[in-house]
Amino acid sequence: MNPHGDDPSLAGTVAPLPPHVAVLVVGAGFGGLGMAIKLAEKGVHDFLVVERADEVGGTWRDNTYPGAACDVPSQLYSFSFALNPGWSRSFSPQAEIQDYLREVAQESGVLGRFRFGVSFDQGAWDEDSQRWRVRTSAGECTADVLVSAAGALSEPKMPDIDGIGSFQGAVFHSARWNHAYDLSGKRVAVIGTGASSVQIVPEIAGQVERLDVYQRTAPWVMPRRDRPYTRAELFAFRHLPGVQRLYRTAIFWARETMVPAFTINPKLAAPAKKASLANIRRGISDPDLRERVTPHFEIGCKRILISNDWYPALDRENVELVTEPIAKVTPSGVVTEDGTEREVDVLVNATGFHTTDLPIAHRISGRGGLTLARQWEREGMSAHKGAMTRGFPNLFLIVGPNTGLGHSSMVFMIESQIAYVLDALRQMRARDIASLEPTRGAQDRWTKDIQRRMERTVWHTGGCSSWYLDAQGRNVTLWPRTTFRFRALTARFDVHEHDVTAHHASRPDADRVEQPT
Ligand code: NAP
Repeated sequence: MNPHGDDPSLAGTVAPLPPHVAVLVVGAGFGGLGMAIKLAEKGVHDFLVVERADEVGGTWRDNTYPGAACDVPSQLYSFSFALNPGWSRSFSPQAEIQDYLREVAQESGVLGRFRFGVSFDQGAWDEDSQRWRVRTSAGECTADVLVSAAGALSEPKMPDIDGIGSFQGAVFHSARWNHAYDLSGKRVAVIGTGASSVQIVPEIAGQVERLDVYQRTAPWVMPRRDRPYTRAELFAFRHLPGVQRLYRTAIFWARETMVPAFTINPKLAAPAKKASLANIRRGISDPDLRERVTPHFEIGCKRILISNDWYPALDRENVELVTEPIAKVTPSGVVTEDGTEREVDVLVNATGFHTTDLPIAHRISGRGGLTLARQWEREGMSAHKGAMTRGFPNLFLIVGPNTGLGHSSMVFMIESQIAYVLDALRQMRARDIASLEPTRGAQDRWTKDIQRRMERTVWHTGGCSSWYLDAQGRNVTLWPRTTFRFRALTARFDVHEHDVTAHHASRPDADRVEQPT
């Protein structure tokens, strides 16, 4: 199937880039697609979206591993402006989400502004022209505004294990599943017991000869309250949109009530803890195995997982949960610290993503040539309102630092951020602004407030390490308040929190207005 419909420019060769665009968007997941649709809706047609893959979808295009599904309710997992009456069940499988994104893209009429198969190689801020100079695999262009919607869970992280490069069998990461490889009758090792692993393991356990699951930290796993929608519900979603809105609103607010358990008092999560412990008792009969899968940190400190078949899968005859730490990988298998070698044909790394060391940050350099990665190394990953970083004028981040969620849908946060960017663009046009960036004071206040709030969250006090934290132990990924608070705080782009350079400036610095900090 050609995912780009009948548009020939998108099916094969890549149309050349124009020399200049008003807005260049990187990435065509929920963030980039939503941004494109809303730009067009606001009458901004001078934009381009570059995407290294060959279709829209982002994480939902890339994560096709067996069992891939969303652990956020379906009703929250669509744009508010494009509800999907077609979700078949309360938690959607990956393929349905990918189909939904394809369909939204097709119907939006914006695909002509996308360049698929084009990687964003470098973006450098040019102070003289007050523009971004962008290098891509399809050539160069300039842009007034750069929007990075490259995603926080897009770059697979391979485990740093001695000898892993010497393994002679098949090796794949959960986010780069090799569907051409048949696992039937194979001996398989899965490294990791996070959100991806708990979906993969039950799905492949019945197919493989033997499955070794390497667990470093036992996760909290709650029951998955998933069910197919009834015919009556599906009928109502399709013909009575108010019903679907009502479902969505009810689920949204129910999810928001979970926030205090993460951010104020973990004891509020006692019912979730109880349900998870019952899930273990239901799924596993062996007391020793029950003990080894019982987490030793506060629930919520890491992402809470949901599954009904994870524990039964670990209890199977052909599955072994290995809790002894991995010492090394040999050409034929995995050796644990007690000296045991378990030979396998396949090594599946369900080991997560680069989240606090985003690869795209190395490709973006701001004022003075400093890369975003270097800036964040020095000062910690931060962005004012989760969107803009000082020293990087006219750069907007979708799913920027501290915008992630553990309890609800990222689509809500993404839509908040898109509206924020649109308001910034509107005000830049209205005030004849060539460039802007947050004042040091505004960004510092924002970041300090977030980090102060973090101190009492379960992510800091819960006694675990997680991908939410950077090397210094700061949570630079999650939003520590309710999502509606984030929406309220980003509802309006406040120019007064930014240093601006006017368009008419002959020498940019001459007209630079430093805001009091
Ligand atoms: P993850 O949650 O970061 O889990 C990685 C797992 O690999 C952890 O169990 C980790 O152990 C283990 N690990 C990493 N390096 C290791 C090493 N060197 N040796 C042994 N074990 C190692 O990654 P993920 O499962 O891919 O999920 C990442 C995020 O993607 C999730 O938190 C979620 O936000 C998202 N996701 C969502 C869904 C969904 O349903 N919506 C599904 C999948 C993923 P430790 O715990 O000890 O670090």
